[in-house]
Amino acid sequence: MPAFVWLADTELRYRSVLGSHFLAGGDEGFALVGRSAVDFPGDGDPDHPFVRACRRAVLGEAAECDFPFRGRLYRACLEPQLDESEGFVTGFLGVAYDVTDRQRVAELLSNEVRFDALTGLPNRLVFAERLANALDRAERLGETFGVLLVDLDRFKAVNEALGHNIGDLFLQTVSERIRHCIGESALFARFGGDQFVVLTPTDADGVSAADLARTIVDQFTRPIVVNAREIFATVSVGLTIAPDDGLDANRVIGNAGTALHDAKDLGGNGFRRYDSRRRDHASDRFAIETDLRRTVGVDDGSSADLAREGFVLHYQPIVSTIDERIVGAEALIRWNHPLRKLVPPDAFIPLAEQTGLILKIGEWVFRTALLQLRAWDNAGIRVERLAINISGRQFHHSNLVETVERLLTETGVDADRIELELTETVVMRDVEATIVTLTRLKALGVHLSIDDFGTGYSSLAYLKRFPIDTLKIDRSFTRDASNGSADAAIVGTIVALGHSLHKRVVAEGVETRGQIDFLRGIDCDELQGFYFSRPLPVSEFAAFFRNPMRGIVAPAGRIRRRVRHLPGQRLPLD
Ligand code: C2E
Ligand code: MG
Ligand code: MG
Repeated sequence: MPAFVWLADTELRYRSVLGSHFLAGGDEGFALVGRSAVDFPGDGDPDHPFVRACRRAVLGEAAECDFPFRGRLYRACLEPQLDESEGFVTGFLGVAYDVTDRQRVAELLSNEVRFDALTGLPNRLVFAERLANALDRAERLGETFGVLLVDLDRFKAVNEALGHNIGDLFLQTVSERIRHCIGESALFARFGGDQFVVLTPTDADGVSAADLARTIVDQFTRPIVVNAREIFATVSVGLTIAPDDGLDANRVIGNAGTALHDAKDLGGNGFRRYDSRRRDHASDRFAIETDLRRTVGVDDGSSADLAREGFVLHYQPIVSTIDERIVGAEALIRWNHPLRKLVPPDAFIPLAEQTGLILKIGEWVFRTALLQLRAWDNAGIRVERLAINISGRQFHHSNLVETVERLLTETGVDADRIELELTETVVMRDVEATIVTLTRLKALGVHLSIDDFGTGYSSLAYLKRFPIDTLKIDRSFTRDASNGSADAAIVGTIVALGHSLHKRVVAEGVETRGQIDFLRGIDCDELQGFYFSRPLPVSEFAAFFRNPMRGIVAPAGRIRRRVRHLPGQRLPLD
């Protein structure tokens, strides 16, 4: 409902007003007609936004403006009134709405997106904007700035020992303490978890930023008191100076991360400045680890929806050697990282292993793959057997069998259609315990296979005792297997060995017709590789299943090489 509606002439004088008590402050006897918009609600200021909007309306332009009046916010819409016959402006019609509450809600909403609820600090989003801005200024105006990544040294221990409530209070206190030593011109934001970030202007050689880093570290010589409890905490800080160390947002964050990693390696409670002589590799690795921790989080037992964080499974068909019919598929994880694009599993599975995050990831993979199998069943795509990779830490974790059992029940998938892939190195570690776990898994009805077979050191004696169904020959052997090389002999031996132990043998990494012919000649049971198909996203897998055009869905490199040899033709691919 409008607060007031009015008609005014070209001199901005009110000709008639509905809701005049609103402008007159409830004084019914107050006559508004004949008075000027400059006074109500222009507060007598000819340059008031309301008055300016009225003027625009008089000039024949539709105008809108927001203006404060008596503690509330209004939005006025003004329309010029035209003389019917002559067409010139005779005045204007105005409507004003009270938008105070709407505005407040909008602000609240935008605050929620931009500020961290726990500490009230700006969040990563704000930091990212400011960083982009600072980089832009650095490039245009030659300004120098420092980015400090601040990380609590033993936050996990505090959280675990004292509980999440105290953990939260502790983080609030820590953020307060850091905030005190940061100047007005710097941005202090929560980066996520127990990490904070500071973006500060600095002198060209970065000395003042380094001083700030030292000051922050020094804040933690005194204990932090939370609920009358003294907690001794220290922080580590990684510092990088832009533009010296790079002029790209990813690089700046990665470098600060590398420096932080170094500070931690030195025992924490200190700061390190990024050393530009370090290889990029390390910073990449650290950046991935940092992101992994942030997205997957600590292993608190909750099964986060990792799909939302960009994790996806791709599926690679496995075919029977005899007729090249699809007999199964292997689920392979990828991480669709917002900045780094598709991160392959080799780049993050080892890190996830080290940090324990693999347990959460592994459970998600398992559940997602089982649900996918169900979905395919419902869509008439019968994938007989689905292979799922299990990492070492998952396998040697006490809960594996229960988790597998629970997820099978939860999803209603027949255990007989699932095959767990374990690498040789994993099963050969602690053999007696392995046998117990394998036997329990087997009792659930799932199939078991040894992945990357040939790369580890399998003992034949143990191999006989393991209740394993399948050996998957590592692709490094398949690669050169067709040319009568030593690898061909190895592959032949593995197949013969597998068959003598009554195991199915699958060759990985099949890329050429020659390899297929060779593998068929030695009776290898099943094949998997780019020749048939790369690992495919769900949508493409369904299409491939329905119409497997073997050899067409080949690796880009191979197609490119082949095409390049066509004579006399320039190709867009080149
Ligand atoms: P893997 O289990 O041996 O998987 C086969 C790997 O070989 C896949 O790499 C696949 O893309 C690749 N590959 C398949 N055919 C060919 C081929 O013809 N030529 C070549 N050059 N490569 C081929 P990817 O997807 O990068 O996975 C790498 C490894 O990461 C996997 O090796 C597996 O050990 C691990 N991994 C993948 N997904 C998961 C997962 O969900 N959980 C765990 N724990 N590990 C996973
Ligand atoms: Mg595998
Ligand atoms: Mg493999």
